[in-house]
Amino acid sequence: MTRNQTEGDEEKRGPRVFVEQSGGHPTESGQLAASNSEATVRAAPQPAAHATGDQLNQPADSSPEPAGSFRELGLSAETLAACERAGYTIPTPVQAGLIPRALAGVDVLGQARTGTGKTAAFVLPILERMTQPHRGGGPRALVLVPTRELAVQVRDEFEKLAHGSRVHCVAVYGGKPIKGQIDKLAKHPAVVVGTPGRVLDHMSRGTISFGEVEMLTLDEADRMLDIGFRPDIEKILRRCPESRQTLLLSATVPPPVAKLATRYMRDPEILDFSTHELAVETIVQFYFTVDPTRKFELLERLLQREQPRQVIVFCRTKRGTDKIYERLSRKRSQQSGEEVACIHGDLSQNIRDRVMRQFRDGTVKTLVATDVVGRGIDVSSVSHIINYDIPEFCDDYVHRVGRTGRMGREGVAYTFVAPDEGPQLTRIEMRIERLLKRDEIPGFEAFDRRPKPGPLQVKIGLDGSTSGGEAGQDATAEPAPPKPPSSASLLGKGRTPKRFRRAL
Ligand code: ADP
Ligand code: MG
Repeated sequence: MTRNQTEGDEEKRGPRVFVEQSGGHPTESGQLAASNSEATVRAAPQPAAHATGDQLNQPADSSPEPAGSFRELGLSAETLAACERAGYTIPTPVQAGLIPRALAGVDVLGQARTGTGKTAAFVLPILERMTQPHRGGGPRALVLVPTRELAVQVRDEFEKLAHGSRVHCVAVYGGKPIKGQIDKLAKHPAVVVGTPGRVLDHMSRGTISFGEVEMLTLDEADRMLDIGFRPDIEKILRRCPESRQTLLLSATVPPPVAKLATRYMRDPEILDFSTHELAVETIVQFYFTVDPTRKFELLERLLQREQPRQVIVFCRTKRGTDKIYERLSRKRSQQSGEEVACIHGDLSQNIRDRVMRQFRDGTVKTLVATDVVGRGIDVSSVSHIINYDIPEFCDDYVHRVGRTGRMGREGVAYTFVAPDEGPQLTRIEMRIERLLKRDEIPGFEAFDRRPKPGPLQVKIGLDGSTSGGEAGQDATAEPAPPKPPSSASLLGKGRTPKRFRRAL
């Protein structure tokens, strides 16, 4: 079983699965997928015809590219003009694949790697729908996102693309006075972007109703459908008309999520534009072994060595984030004076907003953060990601490192691994089907994770269980390709029930 595969249960419902072809447009392969439980949704590498940062910056004499333009996607002149204004000339693969299907009115689950333009892939069809006449108050489109920062970013993308049109988009998210949002909602915006908690709050106050929703989008769908958000999502979905169109977008869609997603969709099409590798190829990924007590020293040395343009340092807890931030900013103020900031869920929303603004405009070079900015945040000049604490969930690793390498740019990701975290690193490597390279700064090595030749080897299983193995494996030899995770492990059956996501 691979992670992209459709499951038996879905076969009966017959989700149509599309595979990206070399031209970037999907071709139906639903019959195959429906009749063969081993069928995999595979996608070709990003075709040259589509936009990546590299290609957009390519010199004129670079190899000629086949045509590929927003014009071919069925968008109206008004929406095309909006793309042009935004500087989008060539659609990315997920945009080329998803937009025509969304315009056709079908439900779509779109998977594409981080930083490949998924936002515009749902914003443009929504804007297109909004050009059709409608009576009533709306909202006609609802977009649900997991974090406040992402709500702001998606609203901004709407505003950028809707510039000059009469479509208004309001963001509703926690931490801001509700009164201002109520006033804005009273003006009947066509589009609402929100975090589930605040959306529910408005629903219970009667300041929003979804009876006229024609299009519902879940961005970062896997996160929205995990146990932390699902009850809220279900409550909201129950208030949306059944006739609505549903779009789901995510970089990672484990099979159980894909299966669950179909519950909320009608005859969905699964469009998979992720290539074999989960993380973008332009991100070079390393790990350091380090003793926990020396992590901060290592961080300092690494920052000194790398001199990142902009970096996010991810920590596991809000407490830890504060501590690292305080130590870093103390050191920095003595030295370069470069701005450091921190962001997590315990800070007031005004501070969070200010920090994001300063990070976006480049005033802040180093951002110490929890996973609150692990999802969806697009700051194109982030050159480095440092996982000061190894992420608890494998998919969070994929999303964290995806904050760099946006639109084909280059990025580097480092993960600090303490001696007892070897199995966690292995699980991440199995999830991304790629081995992280080991990096070293002399004096910081904490342990050798790779198996050494010896009479008895210990294999680390997917679930962290250990078992005896064959002897004599060379430490430098290529390890056997990792087995794809079982659906049980993806479902989290091995986890204790308490291992739910904490607040960020
Ligand atoms: P994702 O949601 O897949 O992580 P985003 O939607 O955040 O990616 O987009 C990443 C960046 O690419 C954004 O800065 C966005 O403005 C830019 N972008 C999106 N589509 C295009 C395009 N067709 N051409 C050029 N840039 C684009
Ligand atoms: Mg996104």
